[in-house]
Amino acid sequence: MSRNPNPPERRNMPATTPPAPVAPNDRGRLRAAVFLDRDGVINIDHGYVSRREDFSFVPGVLDAAADLARMGYALVVVTNQSGIARGYYTEDDFHALARWMRARFAEAGAPLAGVYHCPHHPDAGNGALRRDCDCRKPAPGMLRAAARDLNLDLSRSALFGDKCDDLRAALAAGVPLRVLLGKDGAAMPQEACPETLAGARHRSLASALADPQLRARLLQRCDPAPATGERA
Ligand SMILES: [Mg+2]
Ligand SMILES: [Zn+2]
Repeated sequence: MSRNPNPPERRNMPATTPPAPVAPNDRGRLRAAVFLDRDGVINIDHGYVSRREDFSFVPGVLDAAADLARMGYALVVVTNQSGIARGYYTEDDFHALARWMRARFAEAGAPLAGVYHCPHHPDAGNGALRRDCDCRKPAPGMLRAAARDLNLDLSRSALFGDKCDDLRAALAAGVPLRVLLGKDGAAMPQEACPETLAGARHRSLASALADPQLRARLLQRCDPAPATGERA
């Protein structure tokens, strides 16, 4: 009666299939992305920030994001927002703040290709949002959804986060460059993520982009910036 959820021909397939090589001039080429965590990376993490009045940008983050945009990266925010499951604020509150934040990025020359959030929590709050989901980092659901929606090449992408779980989500999604940042750009990261998880460690997004070695890795991987003059 019930369909076999795991038919034999699939059971033997590798867990992940490497992406097919793409010619450099292919116009349909998938874009490389930089994924950014929000709280602690973009804004000072006061805890469950949901209002504009409480949202202060980490110094230098908008200029650094504009730098990444000029390199040709699609910028995507991926943020756990269990404050919604906990009832501290609503989806509407989150979206209103996200709209305002997107406008600030756009003004700075760093338009965001997407903002993805997980409103769930496995054991906090009441109602439908209290559940195990595949989007709460360290799960890779938000990155995978962004890749589908925005035609991203995860294998040429990078993630900046201030928690090991941010980096775990990137690892699970096949994002090779994972950078651990200090919370709020205030100091070097305190969390001890394994070397295999964190490819680099920096105080903030701005200081990461000031590092020549990391810049070189980012430039190697990213798409050429869109042509602004007559000739590419
Ligand atoms: Mg964070
Ligand atoms: Zn979720």
